[in-house]
Amino acid sequence: MCRKPLIHLASAVVVALGLALVAQISLVWAAEPAPEFYDRLEQMHGHTCGGSLMGARLGFAARRALQEAGATGKVKATYYDHSCPVDGIQLAAGTTYGNRAIEVVDRDEHRLVLTPAEGPRVEARITESALDRVKPSRALAKEARKLPQGSPERAELERQVAAIFDWLRTAPESDVVVVRVLD
Ligand SMILES: [Zn+2]
Repeated sequence: MCRKPLIHLASAVVVALGLALVAQISLVWAAEPAPEFYDRLEQMHGHTCGGSLMGARLGFAARRALQEAGATGKVKATYYDHSCPVDGIQLAAGTTYGNRAIEVVDRDEHRLVLTPAEGPRVEARITESALDRVKPSRALAKEARKLPQGSPERAELERQVAAIFDWLRTAPESDVVVVRVLD
């Protein structure tokens, strides 16, 4: 009996497992998340918006900073505004409400603090320039929805909103998030 197919199968499994692992790691800690992450976020959150995208960037940046600071064990998140970013944080940082791993304190601050079981806490905030850049997207999207479907005016506003979201998904981390190790 020829053993070769079995060897090929085994190496294919090893390669597939390796790829899956790399995909998993890059999904959790990459500075710039993979495009498929944002499909999952849209599905979970119900729409694409500046808030959920900002939450994702905060979550990824803070989680990676925790890892770099050598933190270990279960991570708990606190976010200081009850709004769309909370969903981006849950998915990007892996700190979910059902897992009692996120608390929301409604103080109108776009500030995330991650607290690990062992190691320093990390704080992440959205930069002022990113906030300024993202703010108009809500009014533009609202304006677009008032215009007839398929009209060139509506398409132009939708293009402007999409450009803001694309920037938010792909901009270098330091342009979007300020991360600080707290203690
Ligand atoms: Zn939203």
